[in-house]
Amino acid sequence: MIAARLARRLLAPEPGWIRRADVIVVGSGIAGVTAALNAHEALAGRNVLLVTKSLLDDGSTRWAQGGIAAALGPGDTPEQHLRDTLVAGAGLCDADAVRTLVTEGPGAVRRLIGLGARFDADPAGVLALTREGGHLRRRIAHAGGDATGAEVSRALLLALAEAAADTDEGPGIETIEHAMTLDLLRTTDNRVAGVTLHVIGEGQQDGVGAVLAPVVVLATGGIGQLYLATTNPAVSTGDGLALGLRAGAEAADLEFVQFHPTVMWLGPGSRGRQPLISEAVRGEGAFLVDADGRRFMTGRHPLADLAPRDVVAKAIMKVMAETGTDHVYLDGRNLGKQTWTERFPTIRASCLEHRIDPVHELIPVVPAAHYASGGLRTDRHGRTSVPGLYACGEAACTGVHGANRLASNSLLEGLVFAERIAADLARGLPSHAEPTLTAGGDQPPALVPSSGLERIQALMTERAGVLRSGPGLAAAADELRKIGEDASDQPAVAAWEATNLHLVATALVAAAATRTETRGSHWREDYPAESDDWLGHVLVTVADSDPARADGLTLTFVPRTGPAGDQR
Ligand SMILES: Cc1cc2nc3c(=O)[nH]c(=O)nc-3n(C[C@H](O)[C@H](O)[C@H](O)COP(=O)(O)OP(=O)(O)OC[C@H]3O[C@@H](n4cnc5c(N)ncnc54)[C@H](O)[C@@H]3O)c2cc1C
Repeated sequence: MIAARLARRLLAPEPGWIRRADVIVVGSGIAGVTAALNAHEALAGRNVLLVTKSLLDDGSTRWAQGGIAAALGPGDTPEQHLRDTLVAGAGLCDADAVRTLVTEGPGAVRRLIGLGARFDADPAGVLALTREGGHLRRRIAHAGGDATGAEVSRALLLALAEAAADTDEGPGIETIEHAMTLDLLRTTDNRVAGVTLHVIGEGQQDGVGAVLAPVVVLATGGIGQLYLATTNPAVSTGDGLALGLRAGAEAADLEFVQFHPTVMWLGPGSRGRQPLISEAVRGEGAFLVDADGRRFMTGRHPLADLAPRDVVAKAIMKVMAETGTDHVYLDGRNLGKQTWTERFPTIRASCLEHRIDPVHELIPVVPAAHYASGGLRTDRHGRTSVPGLYACGEAACTGVHGANRLASNSLLEGLVFAERIAADLARGLPSHAEPTLTAGGDQPPALVPSSGLERIQALMTERAGVLRSGPGLAAAADELRKIGEDASDQPAVAAWEATNLHLVATALVAAAATRTETRGSHWREDYPAESDDWLGHVLVTVADSDPARADGLTLTFVPRTGPAGDQR
Protein backbone atom coordinates (compact mmCIF):
# COMPACT_ATOMS: atom_id res chain seq x y z
CA MET A 1 0.00 0.00 0.00
CA ILE A 2 3.04 2.21 -0.32
CA ALA A 3 1.64 4.53 -2.98
CA ALA A 4 -1.54 5.04 -1.02
CA ARG A 5 0.38 5.46 2.23
CA LEU A 6 2.61 8.11 0.68
CA ALA A 7 -0.39 9.68 -0.98
CA ARG A 8 -2.25 9.92 2.31
CA ARG A 9 0.69 11.26 4.30
CA LEU A 10 1.99 13.45 1.54
CA LEU A 11 -0.08 16.43 2.40
CA ALA A 12 2.02 19.46 1.90
CA PRO A 13 3.73 21.01 4.89
CA GLU A 14 2.18 23.92 6.75
CA PRO A 15 2.28 26.93 4.40
CA GLY A 16 4.13 29.99 5.62
CA TRP A 17 2.09 32.32 3.43
CA ILE A 18 -1.29 32.12 1.68
CA ARG A 19 -2.70 34.06 -1.26
CA ARG A 20 -5.43 33.70 -3.90
CA ALA A 21 -5.78 33.48 -7.69
CA ASP A 22 -8.62 32.57 -10.05
CA VAL A 23 -6.61 30.23 -12.26
CA ILE A 24 -3.24 28.67 -11.50
CA VAL A 25 -1.23 27.32 -14.44
CA VAL A 26 1.67 25.06 -13.47
CA GLY A 27 4.46 24.98 -16.06
CA SER A 28 5.86 27.33 -18.67
CA GLY A 29 6.33 25.14 -21.75
CA ILE A 30 4.18 25.40 -24.86
CA ALA A 31 1.15 24.00 -23.03
CA GLY A 32 1.33 26.12 -19.88
CA VAL A 33 2.09 29.43 -21.56
CA THR A 34 -0.59 28.88 -24.21
CA ALA A 35 -3.11 28.02 -21.49
CA ALA A 36 -2.17 31.11 -19.45
CA LEU A 37 -2.28 33.51 -22.43
CA ASN A 38 -5.64 32.22 -23.62
CA ALA A 39 -7.16 32.07 -20.14
CA HIS A 40 -6.02 35.65 -19.53
CA GLU A 41 -7.66 36.80 -22.75
CA ALA A 42 -10.85 34.83 -22.16
CA LEU A 43 -11.26 35.83 -18.50
CA ALA A 44 -10.67 39.57 -18.44
CA GLY A 45 -10.57 40.89 -14.90
CA ARG A 46 -9.54 37.57 -13.37
CA ASN A 47 -6.20 36.67 -11.81
CA VAL A 48 -4.19 34.17 -13.83
CA LEU A 49 -1.04 33.00 -12.06
CA LEU A 50 1.63 30.95 -13.84
CA VAL A 51 4.17 29.16 -11.65
CA THR A 52 7.18 27.27 -12.89
CA LYS A 53 9.75 25.12 -11.17
CA SER A 54 12.88 26.65 -12.62
CA LEU A 55 13.42 29.44 -15.16
CA LEU A 56 10.57 30.19 -17.56
CA ASP A 57 12.27 28.61 -20.57
CA ASP A 58 13.41 25.47 -18.75
CA GLY A 59 11.40 22.52 -20.06
CA SER A 60 11.26 20.21 -23.07
CA THR A 61 9.66 22.81 -25.32
CA ARG A 62 12.79 24.81 -26.00
CA TRP A 63 14.70 21.65 -26.98
CA ALA A 64 12.19 20.48 -29.60
CA GLN A 65 13.98 20.14 -32.89
CA GLY A 66 12.04 18.76 -35.86
CA GLY A 67 8.95 20.94 -35.75
CA ILE A 68 5.23 21.11 -35.35
CA ALA A 69 2.82 19.11 -37.48
CA ALA A 70 -0.33 20.61 -39.05
CA ALA A 71 -2.15 20.25 -42.37
CA LEU A 72 -1.05 23.62 -43.71
CA GLY A 73 0.44 22.70 -47.08
CA PRO A 74 -1.09 22.41 -50.53
CA GLY A 75 -2.73 19.04 -51.09
CA ASP A 76 -2.75 18.19 -47.39
CA THR A 77 -5.92 17.84 -45.33
CA PRO A 78 -6.77 17.30 -41.66
CA GLU A 79 -8.27 13.97 -42.76
CA GLN A 80 -4.87 12.77 -44.01
CA HIS A 81 -3.17 14.01 -40.85
CA LEU A 82 -5.82 12.09 -38.89
CA ARG A 83 -5.08 8.90 -40.81
CA ASP A 84 -1.31 9.13 -40.26
CA THR A 85 -1.82 9.79 -36.54
CA LEU A 86 -4.15 6.80 -36.17
CA VAL A 87 -1.67 4.49 -37.90
CA ALA A 88 1.17 5.57 -35.58
CA GLY A 89 -1.09 5.12 -32.53
CA ALA A 90 -1.34 1.38 -33.24
CA GLY A 91 -5.07 1.06 -32.68
CA LEU A 92 -5.31 3.02 -29.44
CA CYS A 93 -5.91 6.63 -30.49
CA ASP A 94 -9.15 8.28 -29.50
CA ALA A 95 -10.29 9.17 -33.01
CA ASP A 96 -12.48 12.05 -31.78
CA ALA A 97 -9.56 13.61 -29.93
CA VAL A 98 -7.33 13.20 -32.98
CA ARG A 99 -9.99 14.83 -35.17
CA THR A 100 -10.02 17.79 -32.79
CA LEU A 101 -6.22 17.98 -32.93
CA VAL A 102 -5.92 17.91 -36.70
CA THR A 103 -8.87 20.19 -37.50
CA GLU A 104 -7.99 22.84 -34.92
CA GLY A 105 -4.22 22.40 -35.45
CA PRO A 106 -3.73 24.58 -38.53
CA GLY A 107 -5.55 27.52 -36.88
CA ALA A 108 -3.55 27.09 -33.69
CA VAL A 109 -0.25 27.19 -35.60
CA ARG A 110 -1.41 30.31 -37.48
CA ARG A 111 -2.27 31.95 -34.16
CA LEU A 112 1.22 31.06 -32.90
CA ILE A 113 2.65 32.76 -35.99
CA GLY A 114 0.36 35.72 -35.30
CA LEU A 115 1.86 35.88 -31.83
CA GLY A 116 5.30 36.32 -33.36
CA ALA A 117 6.78 32.83 -33.90
CA ARG A 118 8.96 32.92 -37.01
CA PHE A 119 8.85 29.63 -38.89
CA ASP A 120 11.15 28.90 -41.83
CA ALA A 121 9.55 30.13 -45.05
CA ASP A 122 10.49 31.02 -48.62
CA PRO A 123 11.01 34.67 -49.62
CA ALA A 124 7.29 34.95 -50.47
CA GLY A 125 6.44 33.92 -46.91
CA VAL A 126 5.19 30.43 -47.81
CA LEU A 127 5.97 28.05 -44.95
CA ALA A 128 8.76 25.55 -45.65
CA LEU A 129 7.06 22.31 -44.63
CA THR A 130 9.02 19.12 -44.28
CA ARG A 131 8.17 15.44 -43.81
CA GLU A 132 9.04 13.17 -40.91
CA GLY A 133 8.64 9.45 -40.24
CA GLY A 134 5.00 8.36 -40.44
CA HIS A 135 3.72 11.49 -42.21
CA LEU A 136 2.58 10.87 -45.77
CA ARG A 137 2.56 14.61 -46.54
CA ARG A 138 4.88 17.56 -46.01
CA ARG A 139 3.29 19.09 -42.91
CA ILE A 140 6.04 19.85 -40.39
CA ALA A 141 6.59 23.55 -39.85
CA HIS A 142 10.04 24.26 -38.42
CA ALA A 143 12.09 27.21 -37.28
CA GLY A 144 15.81 27.95 -37.42
CA GLY A 145 16.31 24.64 -39.24
CA ASP A 146 16.32 22.28 -36.27
CA ALA A 147 15.62 24.81 -33.50
CA THR A 148 11.81 24.92 -33.58
CA GLY A 149 11.28 24.68 -29.83
CA ALA A 150 13.64 27.55 -29.06
CA GLU A 151 11.72 29.84 -31.42
CA VAL A 152 8.30 28.74 -30.16
CA SER A 153 9.45 29.28 -26.58
CA ARG A 154 10.92 32.71 -27.41
CA ALA A 155 7.69 33.90 -29.04
CA LEU A 156 5.44 32.56 -26.28
CA LEU A 157 7.55 33.99 -23.46
CA LEU A 158 7.64 37.38 -25.15
CA ALA A 159 3.84 37.32 -25.37
CA LEU A 160 3.71 36.28 -21.71
CA ALA A 161 5.92 39.21 -20.73
CA GLU A 162 3.66 41.56 -22.69
CA ALA A 163 0.59 40.15 -20.95
CA ALA A 164 2.14 40.82 -17.53
CA ALA A 165 1.08 44.46 -17.40
CA ASP A 166 -2.18 45.38 -15.69
CA THR A 167 -4.66 47.16 -17.97
CA ASP A 168 -8.01 48.90 -17.57
CA GLU A 169 -9.62 45.53 -18.20
CA GLY A 170 -7.91 43.80 -15.36
CA PRO A 171 -4.70 42.39 -13.93
CA GLY A 172 -1.92 41.05 -16.11
CA ILE A 173 -0.67 37.48 -15.92
CA GLU A 174 1.57 37.03 -12.92
CA THR A 175 4.44 34.58 -13.16
CA ILE A 176 6.60 33.09 -10.42
CA GLU A 177 9.85 31.32 -11.31
CA HIS A 178 11.61 28.83 -9.03
CA ALA A 179 8.21 27.87 -7.66
CA MET A 180 7.86 24.13 -7.38
CA THR A 181 4.28 23.00 -6.96
CA LEU A 182 4.33 20.42 -4.19
CA ASP A 183 0.76 19.26 -3.95
CA LEU A 184 -2.84 20.06 -4.79
CA LEU A 185 -5.25 21.43 -2.22
CA ARG A 186 -8.76 20.02 -2.27
CA THR A 187 -12.19 20.52 -0.73
CA THR A 188 -14.05 17.84 1.21
CA ASP A 189 -15.99 16.92 -1.92
CA ASN A 190 -12.66 16.51 -3.73
CA ARG A 191 -12.72 19.61 -5.87
CA VAL A 192 -9.48 21.42 -6.51
CA ALA A 193 -8.91 24.38 -4.20
CA GLY A 194 -5.34 25.43 -5.02
CA VAL A 195 -1.74 24.34 -4.67
CA THR A 196 1.10 24.37 -2.20
CA LEU A 197 4.39 25.69 -3.52
CA HIS A 198 8.01 25.77 -2.54
CA VAL A 199 9.31 29.11 -3.75
CA ILE A 200 12.85 30.34 -3.80
CA GLY A 201 11.82 33.95 -3.81
CA GLU A 202 12.05 37.19 -1.98
CA GLY A 203 10.22 38.86 0.86
CA GLN A 204 7.00 37.32 2.05
CA GLN A 205 6.62 34.93 -0.85
CA ASP A 206 9.54 32.69 0.04
CA GLY A 207 9.61 29.08 1.21
CA VAL A 208 6.50 26.93 1.38
CA GLY A 209 3.24 28.73 0.70
CA ALA A 210 -0.25 28.11 -0.60
CA VAL A 211 -2.21 29.67 -3.43
CA LEU A 212 -5.95 29.11 -3.22
CA ALA A 213 -7.81 28.88 -6.55
CA PRO A 214 -10.80 26.93 -7.91
CA VAL A 215 -8.93 25.97 -11.12
CA VAL A 216 -5.48 24.42 -11.54
CA VAL A 217 -4.03 23.61 -14.96
CA LEU A 218 -1.19 21.09 -14.82
CA ALA A 219 1.23 21.59 -17.73
CA THR A 220 4.31 20.10 -16.11
CA GLY A 221 5.69 18.17 -19.11
CA GLY A 222 7.17 14.69 -19.26
CA ILE A 223 8.66 11.96 -17.11
CA GLY A 224 12.06 11.46 -18.78
CA GLN A 225 13.94 11.66 -15.48
CA LEU A 226 12.49 8.27 -14.55
CA TYR A 227 15.33 6.80 -16.59
CA LEU A 228 19.12 6.98 -16.47
CA ALA A 229 19.24 8.32 -20.01
CA THR A 230 16.79 10.86 -21.36
CA THR A 231 16.47 13.65 -23.88
CA ASN A 232 14.30 15.53 -21.37
CA PRO A 233 15.66 18.29 -19.14
CA ALA A 234 16.11 17.91 -15.38
CA VAL A 235 12.70 19.48 -14.65
CA SER A 236 10.88 16.54 -16.33
CA THR A 237 10.19 14.59 -13.15
CA GLY A 238 6.54 13.74 -13.71
CA ASP A 239 5.39 16.15 -10.98
CA GLY A 240 2.01 16.96 -12.52
CA LEU A 241 1.22 13.31 -13.06
CA ALA A 242 2.10 12.51 -9.45
CA LEU A 243 0.15 15.49 -8.10
CA GLY A 244 -2.89 14.48 -10.14
CA LEU A 245 -2.66 10.85 -9.06
CA ARG A 246 -2.40 11.83 -5.41
CA ALA A 247 -5.50 13.98 -5.81
CA GLY A 248 -7.42 10.98 -7.16
CA ALA A 249 -7.23 11.77 -10.89
CA GLU A 250 -7.08 8.97 -13.45
CA ALA A 251 -3.95 8.39 -15.51
CA ALA A 252 -3.99 6.44 -18.78
CA ASP A 253 -1.55 4.84 -21.24
CA LEU A 254 1.41 5.20 -18.88
CA GLU A 255 3.06 2.10 -20.34
CA PHE A 256 3.64 3.86 -23.66
CA VAL A 257 7.00 5.64 -23.37
CA GLN A 258 8.90 6.47 -26.53
CA PHE A 259 12.64 5.83 -26.46
CA HIS A 260 15.06 7.48 -28.84
CA PRO A 261 17.75 4.97 -29.83
CA THR A 262 20.75 7.30 -29.88
CA VAL A 263 21.58 9.97 -27.36
CA MET A 264 25.14 10.66 -26.32
CA TRP A 265 26.16 8.59 -23.29
CA LEU A 266 27.72 10.98 -20.81
CA GLY A 267 29.03 8.51 -18.27
CA PRO A 268 27.58 6.73 -15.26
CA GLY A 269 25.45 8.80 -12.93
CA SER A 270 25.04 11.69 -15.36
CA ARG A 271 21.75 13.47 -14.80
CA GLY A 272 19.65 15.78 -16.86
CA ARG A 273 19.24 16.19 -20.56
CA GLN A 274 21.49 14.17 -22.85
CA PRO A 275 22.22 15.38 -26.40
CA LEU A 276 20.30 13.71 -29.19
CA ILE A 277 22.26 12.25 -32.08
CA SER A 278 19.70 12.52 -34.85
CA GLU A 279 18.70 9.60 -37.07
CA ALA A 280 19.88 11.74 -39.96
CA VAL A 281 23.49 10.92 -38.97
CA ARG A 282 22.77 7.26 -39.61
CA GLY A 283 20.91 8.36 -42.74
CA GLU A 284 24.21 9.82 -44.00
CA GLY A 285 26.04 6.53 -43.40
CA ALA A 286 27.02 6.29 -39.72
CA PHE A 287 26.46 2.87 -38.13
CA LEU A 288 26.25 1.31 -34.68
CA VAL A 289 28.96 -0.93 -33.25
CA ASP A 290 29.38 -2.77 -29.96
CA ALA A 291 32.24 -2.32 -27.50
CA ASP A 292 34.40 -4.59 -29.67
CA GLY A 293 33.73 -2.55 -32.79
CA ARG A 294 31.35 -5.11 -34.34
CA ARG A 295 28.35 -3.88 -36.35
CA PHE A 296 25.19 -5.39 -34.92
CA MET A 297 22.24 -3.98 -36.87
CA THR A 298 23.12 -5.76 -40.11
CA GLY A 299 20.97 -8.88 -40.39
CA ARG A 300 18.57 -7.81 -37.63
CA HIS A 301 16.31 -5.77 -39.88
CA PRO A 302 16.19 -5.16 -43.65
CA LEU A 303 16.90 -1.46 -43.03
CA ALA A 304 19.83 -2.32 -40.71
CA ASP A 305 20.94 0.87 -38.89
CA LEU A 306 17.95 2.76 -40.29
CA ALA A 307 15.34 0.37 -38.90
CA PRO A 308 12.44 2.01 -36.98
CA ARG A 309 13.41 3.67 -33.70
CA ASP A 310 11.87 0.98 -31.51
CA VAL A 311 13.74 -1.78 -33.33
CA VAL A 312 17.11 -0.02 -33.08
CA ALA A 313 16.59 0.83 -29.39
CA LYS A 314 15.67 -2.76 -28.62
CA ALA A 315 18.74 -4.12 -30.47
CA ILE A 316 21.04 -1.75 -28.56
CA MET A 317 19.59 -2.86 -25.21
CA LYS A 318 20.09 -6.52 -26.15
CA VAL A 319 23.71 -5.92 -27.18
CA MET A 320 24.39 -4.02 -23.96
CA ALA A 321 22.93 -6.89 -21.91
CA GLU A 322 24.94 -9.50 -23.85
CA THR A 323 28.22 -7.62 -23.57
CA GLY A 324 27.68 -6.32 -20.03
CA THR A 325 28.22 -2.70 -21.09
CA ASP A 326 26.19 0.44 -20.43
CA HIS A 327 26.49 1.92 -23.92
CA VAL A 328 27.35 1.14 -27.54
CA TYR A 329 28.99 3.37 -30.14
CA LEU A 330 28.00 5.25 -33.24
CA ASP A 331 30.71 5.23 -35.89
CA GLY A 332 30.37 8.28 -38.13
CA ARG A 333 34.01 8.61 -39.11
CA ASN A 334 33.18 7.68 -42.71
CA LEU A 335 31.08 10.86 -43.06
CA GLY A 336 34.20 13.01 -43.23
CA LYS A 337 34.90 16.44 -41.84
CA GLN A 338 32.93 18.35 -44.49
CA THR A 339 29.67 16.48 -43.84
CA TRP A 340 30.06 16.84 -40.09
CA THR A 341 30.74 20.56 -40.25
CA GLU A 342 28.23 21.47 -42.94
CA ARG A 343 25.39 19.03 -42.34
CA PHE A 344 25.60 18.43 -38.57
CA PRO A 345 27.29 21.46 -37.02
CA THR A 346 25.10 21.43 -33.89
CA ILE A 347 25.60 17.74 -33.21
CA ARG A 348 29.34 17.98 -33.81
CA ALA A 349 29.52 20.98 -31.50
CA SER A 350 27.79 19.11 -28.69
CA CYS A 351 30.13 16.13 -29.24
CA LEU A 352 33.14 18.46 -29.05
CA GLU A 353 31.73 19.96 -25.87
CA HIS A 354 32.11 16.48 -24.41
CA ARG A 355 35.60 16.11 -25.87
CA ILE A 356 34.62 13.75 -28.67
CA ASP A 357 35.36 14.65 -32.26
CA PRO A 358 33.05 12.46 -34.37
CA VAL A 359 35.25 13.07 -37.41
CA HIS A 360 37.93 10.88 -35.82
CA GLU A 361 36.24 9.16 -32.86
CA LEU A 362 33.34 6.89 -32.02
CA ILE A 363 30.39 8.49 -30.21
CA PRO A 364 29.19 6.56 -27.13
CA VAL A 365 25.39 6.26 -27.35
CA VAL A 366 22.45 4.75 -25.45
CA PRO A 367 18.69 4.64 -25.98
CA ALA A 368 16.98 7.33 -23.95
CA ALA A 369 13.49 8.07 -22.72
CA HIS A 370 12.09 10.71 -25.04
CA TYR A 371 8.33 11.13 -24.77
CA ALA A 372 5.45 9.96 -22.56
CA SER A 373 2.37 9.22 -24.65
CA GLY A 374 0.30 8.66 -21.51
CA GLY A 375 -0.48 10.98 -18.62
CA LEU A 376 -3.42 12.40 -16.71
CA ARG A 377 -6.51 11.35 -18.61
CA THR A 378 -8.50 14.30 -19.92
CA ASP A 379 -11.54 14.89 -22.04
CA ARG A 380 -11.39 17.13 -25.10
CA HIS A 381 -11.68 20.23 -22.90
CA GLY A 382 -8.61 19.26 -20.90
CA ARG A 383 -10.64 18.32 -17.82
CA THR A 384 -9.29 15.51 -15.64
CA SER A 385 -11.55 13.34 -13.50
CA VAL A 386 -11.09 15.77 -10.54
CA PRO A 387 -13.37 18.84 -10.75
CA GLY A 388 -11.38 22.03 -11.31
CA LEU A 389 -8.24 20.13 -12.30
CA TYR A 390 -7.12 20.44 -15.92
CA ALA A 391 -4.06 19.00 -17.67
CA CYS A 392 -2.45 19.69 -21.03
CA GLY A 393 0.74 19.07 -22.96
CA GLU A 394 2.94 16.08 -22.23
CA ALA A 395 1.53 15.73 -18.71
CA ALA A 396 -1.90 14.93 -20.16
CA CYS A 397 -3.33 11.95 -21.98
CA THR A 398 -5.89 13.42 -24.36
CA GLY A 399 -5.97 10.20 -26.38
CA VAL A 400 -4.32 11.64 -29.49
CA HIS A 401 -1.16 9.53 -29.34
CA GLY A 402 -2.56 6.09 -28.56
CA ALA A 403 0.26 3.57 -28.21
CA ASN A 404 2.81 5.69 -30.09
CA ARG A 405 3.11 9.37 -30.86
CA LEU A 406 3.38 10.51 -34.45
CA ALA A 407 6.46 12.73 -34.81
CA SER A 408 5.83 16.45 -34.19
CA ASN A 409 2.29 15.96 -32.90
CA SER A 410 3.24 16.80 -29.30
CA LEU A 411 3.89 20.52 -29.71
CA LEU A 412 0.61 20.69 -31.62
CA GLU A 413 -1.25 18.84 -28.86
CA GLY A 414 0.11 21.31 -26.30
CA LEU A 415 -1.19 24.24 -28.34
CA VAL A 416 -4.60 22.91 -29.31
CA PHE A 417 -5.69 21.50 -25.98
CA ALA A 418 -4.36 24.45 -23.96
CA GLU A 419 -6.52 26.71 -26.12
CA ARG A 420 -9.48 24.44 -25.47
CA ILE A 421 -8.97 24.65 -21.70
CA ALA A 422 -9.20 28.44 -21.87
CA ALA A 423 -12.36 28.15 -23.96
CA ASP A 424 -13.84 25.85 -21.34
CA LEU A 425 -12.94 28.26 -18.53
CA ALA A 426 -14.57 31.09 -20.47
CA ARG A 427 -17.90 29.23 -20.11
CA GLY A 428 -17.71 29.88 -16.36
CA LEU A 429 -15.26 29.52 -13.51
CA PRO A 430 -16.16 27.45 -10.47
CA SER A 431 -16.50 29.51 -7.31
CA HIS A 432 -13.73 29.64 -4.72
CA ALA A 433 -14.01 27.00 -2.02
CA GLU A 434 -11.88 26.60 1.08
CA PRO A 435 -9.51 23.65 1.07
CA THR A 436 -9.92 21.15 3.84
CA LEU A 437 -6.92 18.96 3.17
CA THR A 438 -4.43 21.67 3.89
CA ALA A 439 -1.40 21.06 5.97
CA GLY A 440 0.13 17.93 7.35
CA GLY A 441 -0.07 19.70 10.70
CA ASP A 442 2.48 18.43 13.15
CA GLN A 443 2.98 15.28 11.12
CA PRO A 444 5.89 15.89 8.73
CA PRO A 445 5.40 14.75 5.13
CA ALA A 446 6.78 11.33 4.22
CA LEU A 447 9.08 11.70 1.25
CA VAL A 448 11.27 9.31 -0.69
CA PRO A 449 14.81 10.50 0.04
CA SER A 450 16.58 12.01 -2.93
CA SER A 451 19.15 9.20 -2.67
CA GLY A 452 16.34 6.92 -3.90
CA LEU A 453 16.39 8.65 -7.26
CA GLU A 454 19.36 6.79 -8.73
CA ARG A 455 17.91 3.47 -7.60
CA ILE A 456 14.61 4.34 -9.29
CA GLN A 457 16.33 5.38 -12.51
CA ALA A 458 18.53 2.29 -12.67
CA LEU A 459 15.59 0.03 -11.92
CA MET A 460 13.30 1.62 -14.48
CA THR A 461 16.02 1.52 -17.15
CA GLU A 462 16.73 -2.15 -16.53
CA ARG A 463 13.21 -3.44 -15.90
CA ALA A 464 10.68 -1.03 -17.37
CA GLY A 465 12.54 0.65 -20.18
CA VAL A 466 12.86 -0.41 -23.79
CA LEU A 467 12.55 -4.12 -22.96
CA ARG A 468 10.03 -5.44 -20.47
CA SER A 469 8.92 -8.82 -19.18
CA GLY A 470 6.50 -10.08 -16.52
CA PRO A 471 9.24 -11.25 -14.08
CA GLY A 472 11.27 -8.05 -14.63
CA LEU A 473 8.27 -5.84 -13.96
CA ALA A 474 7.34 -7.85 -10.87
CA ALA A 475 10.89 -7.43 -9.56
CA ALA A 476 10.66 -3.70 -10.31
CA ALA A 477 7.40 -3.42 -8.36
CA ASP A 478 9.01 -5.19 -5.37
CA GLU A 479 12.06 -2.98 -5.42
CA LEU A 480 9.92 0.16 -5.71
CA ARG A 481 7.99 -0.94 -2.67
CA LYS A 482 11.27 -1.25 -0.75
CA ILE A 483 12.42 2.16 -1.91
CA GLY A 484 9.10 3.59 -0.72
CA GLU A 485 9.59 2.05 2.71
CA ASP A 486 12.72 4.16 3.13
CA ALA A 487 10.54 7.26 3.17
CA SER A 488 12.24 9.99 5.15
CA ASP A 489 11.10 13.26 6.61
CA GLN A 490 13.42 15.67 4.84
CA PRO A 491 11.22 18.06 2.91
CA ALA A 492 13.84 19.09 0.31
CA VAL A 493 12.81 19.85 -3.27
CA ALA A 494 14.93 16.93 -4.53
CA ALA A 495 13.02 14.61 -2.18
CA TRP A 496 9.69 15.86 -3.53
CA GLU A 497 10.92 15.10 -7.04
CA ALA A 498 12.11 11.64 -6.00
CA THR A 499 8.73 11.04 -4.36
CA ASN A 500 6.89 12.08 -7.50
CA LEU A 501 9.09 9.89 -9.68
CA HIS A 502 8.56 7.00 -7.27
CA LEU A 503 4.79 7.26 -7.59
CA VAL A 504 4.95 7.62 -11.37
CA ALA A 505 7.34 4.66 -11.59
CA THR A 506 5.02 2.54 -9.45
CA ALA A 507 2.04 3.41 -11.64
CA LEU A 508 3.95 2.91 -14.89
CA VAL A 509 5.30 -0.49 -13.82
CA ALA A 510 1.80 -1.59 -12.79
CA ALA A 511 0.36 -0.53 -16.16
CA ALA A 512 3.18 -2.20 -18.09
CA ALA A 513 2.74 -5.41 -16.12
CA THR A 514 -1.00 -5.37 -16.80
CA ARG A 515 -0.71 -5.02 -20.58
CA THR A 516 0.37 -8.50 -21.63
CA GLU A 517 1.02 -7.72 -25.27
CA THR A 518 3.48 -5.80 -27.42
CA ARG A 519 1.98 -2.70 -29.02
CA GLY A 520 3.36 0.64 -30.17
CA SER A 521 6.17 1.68 -27.86
CA HIS A 522 5.38 -0.99 -25.22
CA TRP A 523 7.57 -4.07 -25.79
CA ARG A 524 6.93 -7.22 -23.77
CA GLU A 525 9.52 -9.91 -24.45
CA ASP A 526 7.17 -12.52 -22.97
CA TYR A 527 4.21 -11.32 -25.10
CA PRO A 528 5.82 -10.33 -28.40
CA ALA A 529 2.59 -9.94 -30.42
CA GLU A 530 -0.34 -7.52 -30.44
CA SER A 531 -3.60 -8.88 -29.09
CA ASP A 532 -7.13 -7.66 -29.83
CA ASP A 533 -7.93 -8.35 -26.17
CA TRP A 534 -5.92 -5.21 -25.38
CA LEU A 535 -7.67 -2.76 -27.71
CA GLY A 536 -8.25 -0.33 -24.89
CA HIS A 537 -6.59 1.66 -22.13
CA VAL A 538 -5.13 0.77 -18.78
CA LEU A 539 -6.29 3.39 -16.27
CA VAL A 540 -4.43 3.87 -13.01
CA THR A 541 -5.65 5.60 -9.88
CA VAL A 542 -4.22 5.81 -6.37
CA ALA A 543 -6.57 4.11 -3.93
CA ASP A 544 -6.12 1.47 -1.31
CA SER A 545 -9.44 -0.13 -2.04
CA ASP A 546 -8.03 -3.09 -3.97
CA PRO A 547 -6.80 -5.54 -1.33
CA ALA A 548 -5.35 -7.79 -4.03
CA ARG A 549 -2.68 -5.21 -4.83
CA ALA A 550 0.25 -4.33 -2.63
CA ASP A 551 1.07 -1.05 -4.37
CA GLY A 552 -2.04 0.87 -3.35
CA LEU A 553 -3.12 1.38 -6.95
CA THR A 554 -6.31 0.51 -8.75
CA LEU A 555 -5.97 -0.57 -12.38
CA THR A 556 -8.93 -0.66 -14.72
CA PHE A 557 -9.09 -1.67 -18.35
CA VAL A 558 -11.47 0.36 -20.52
CA PRO A 559 -12.12 -0.40 -24.18
CA ARG A 560 -10.94 2.15 -26.72
CA THR A 561 -13.10 5.27 -26.76
CA GLY A 562 -14.43 7.18 -29.76
CA PRO A 563 -15.20 5.69 -33.15
CA ALA A 564 -12.61 3.17 -34.22
CA GLY A 565 -12.20 4.69 -37.69
CA ASP A 566 -9.55 3.12 -39.86
CA GLN A 567 -6.88 2.70 -37.22
CA ARG A 568 -4.49 0.83 -39.50
C1 LIG B 1 15.12 16.89 -27.34
C2 LIG B 1 13.64 16.91 -27.65
C3 LIG B 1 13.22 17.10 -28.97
C4 LIG B 1 11.84 17.15 -29.26
N1 LIG B 1 11.43 17.43 -30.55
C5 LIG B 1 10.10 17.60 -30.78
C6 LIG B 1 9.64 18.03 -32.06
O1 LIG B 1 10.42 18.30 -32.97
N2 LIG B 1 8.28 18.18 -32.25
C7 LIG B 1 7.37 17.92 -31.27
O2 LIG B 1 6.16 18.06 -31.49
N3 LIG B 1 7.80 17.51 -30.05
C8 LIG B 1 9.11 17.36 -29.79
N4 LIG B 1 9.53 16.98 -28.54
C9 LIG B 1 8.51 16.80 -27.49
C10 LIG B 1 8.00 18.17 -27.05
O3 LIG B 1 9.08 19.08 -27.02
C11 LIG B 1 7.36 18.10 -25.67
O4 LIG B 1 6.45 17.04 -25.61
C12 LIG B 1 6.63 19.40 -25.36
O5 LIG B 1 7.50 20.51 -25.52
C13 LIG B 1 6.07 19.38 -23.95
O6 LIG B 1 5.55 20.65 -23.67
P1 LIG B 1 4.90 20.91 -22.25
O7 LIG B 1 4.49 22.34 -22.24
O8 LIG B 1 3.88 19.89 -21.99
O9 LIG B 1 6.08 20.64 -21.21
P2 LIG B 1 7.52 21.31 -21.04
O10 LIG B 1 7.92 22.13 -22.18
O11 LIG B 1 8.44 20.21 -20.63
O12 LIG B 1 7.28 22.29 -19.81
C14 LIG B 1 6.98 21.78 -18.52
C15 LIG B 1 7.02 22.92 -17.55
O13 LIG B 1 6.52 22.52 -16.28
C16 LIG B 1 7.40 22.99 -15.26
N5 LIG B 1 7.23 22.14 -14.08
C17 LIG B 1 7.43 20.80 -13.99
N6 LIG B 1 7.14 20.39 -12.75
C18 LIG B 1 6.74 21.49 -12.05
C19 LIG B 1 6.34 21.71 -10.71
N7 LIG B 1 6.26 20.73 -9.79
N8 LIG B 1 6.01 22.96 -10.32
C20 LIG B 1 6.09 24.00 -11.19
N9 LIG B 1 6.48 23.83 -12.48
C21 LIG B 1 6.80 22.60 -12.89
C22 LIG B 1 8.75 22.93 -15.91
O14 LIG B 1 9.69 23.69 -15.20
C23 LIG B 1 8.41 23.47 -17.30
O15 LIG B 1 8.32 24.86 -17.27
C24 LIG B 1 10.89 16.94 -28.23
C25 LIG B 1 11.32 16.73 -26.93
C26 LIG B 1 12.67 16.73 -26.63
C27 LIG B 1 13.10 16.53 -25.20
